[in-house]
Amino acid sequence: MIATFPTSKKEIVDRIFRAGVVGAGGAGFPTHLKATAKADTVIANGCECEPLIQSDRYVLTVHFEEVLEGLRLMMIATGASRGLVAIREGQQLEALEDAVGKDRSIELIRVPDTYPAGDEHILVYEATGRIVPQGGIPPDVAVVVSNVNTLLNVSRAMSGGSVTKRILSICGDIVKPCLTEAPIGMAINDLLEVTGNRVDLEQKAVLISGVMMGELCDDPTRPIDKRTSAIVILPRDNRVVMAKALPLGTMVRRAASVCCQCRLCTELCPRHLMGHAISPHRIMRAVAWMTDYKDDLAGALLCSGCGLCGIYVCPMGLSPDRISFAVRTRLLERGIRAEPAEAKARPLRASRLVPHERILSRTGVGKYEQELDFVGVQRPAVVRIPLGQHSGKAAVPRVRPGDKVIEGDIIGEPEDPRFGAVVHASVSGVVAAVDDHVTIESR
Ligand code: SF4
Ligand code: SF4
Repeated sequence: MIATFPTSKKEIVDRIFRAGVVGAGGAGFPTHLKATAKADTVIANGCECEPLIQSDRYVLTVHFEEVLEGLRLMMIATGASRGLVAIREGQQLEALEDAVGKDRSIELIRVPDTYPAGDEHILVYEATGRIVPQGGIPPDVAVVVSNVNTLLNVSRAMSGGSVTKRILSICGDIVKPCLTEAPIGMAINDLLEVTGNRVDLEQKAVLISGVMMGELCDDPTRPIDKRTSAIVILPRDNRVVMAKALPLGTMVRRAASVCCQCRLCTELCPRHLMGHAISPHRIMRAVAWMTDYKDDLAGALLCSGCGLCGIYVCPMGLSPDRISFAVRTRLLERGIRAEPAEAKARPLRASRLVPHERILSRTGVGKYEQELDFVGVQRPAVVRIPLGQHSGKAAVPRVRPGDKVIEGDIIGEPEDPRFGAVVHASVSGVVAAVDDHVTIESR
């Protein structure tokens, strides 16, 4: 259903909040907070640079009208006069192009088909020429970026819809790679089973939401959430899986023994190339040799976790990506934040971009690339819905075991709307358990 336009910023923000919309492309930042920013440009991010995944492309093919509606709504909320739909060079989306051509406030732009084209900082630069300051966010340069799945949910929020399902890719080394739509809280192993992709987890590994930035998942009963864009299955002996499976202590010991300080990880780091003060080779040196040199370690706060330096770059097979991200996490836990500073793109940046094809080849997943067909909406017997599936604090449960719920009922709310998002029942049924998840048996 296409939304009717609310006219005030407050009304749009309220409806987004009540619908529980969060960023669908990664960290799950609550979208009602993003909608309160002031900007002159809103970018619909359809770049989807992770190998194999086609969820955003599917949304831009089938639900493009709602995505454009969501983009217009975010433009009204933020006061932006310019809307951009960003896709990668080479992507053919004729219906979207026709629709964009009829709206003078919106443009379709193609950004270089490189990794990580979908990183907000990289996308803002490619689309507008502006550089988000290090330690900053796109609204610092009057830009708001939203994933196309998020904008689909923004559009649906205007007609009273809430985020109860997720469109995702099931792909990799399986017999029936596909696209599907599943209720939030459906278990990964149930999804694999019903799509005809039962896998032997002794032989194969599950990656949540991507090869490069995705997380290795050892619990196949884990539920999907609003941020899950894909379930990727790869052989256990794939080099990415093996690198992600290494314990942190082993990575540090390897770094101490074989990191030759060649600097390649730094020379190709996308955030370093944007002029940010991050140098993964220096982080490796500080961690491996246990120096407490604050400037070296502080650079980790600027790491996006894109994985490029470890999975693609390091000639010694080390993991500067995981070590940098681990340092970042520790610093944030201690309340240490990045020093904001203006940045300037480095002169050699354009010649150091990594083409998508090279990523497919280096990760060994190119052989799994194929067109994914949509196989319909899933209807599981049970869902286990996380109360924390967004950045900020987990929602407080609003239901108890034995309660009857219908799809779309509120089952969790944030104590403070500035630090969380609303959670809804994704199926109709009876609440079976409440802990940090709400389990609902479908009836
Ligand atoms: S690319 Fe690898 S070997 Fe070279 S400095 Fe970085 S971590 Fe060390
Ligand atoms: S993961 Fe590596 S390449 Fe990516 S931003 Fe962090 S340090 Fe740079």
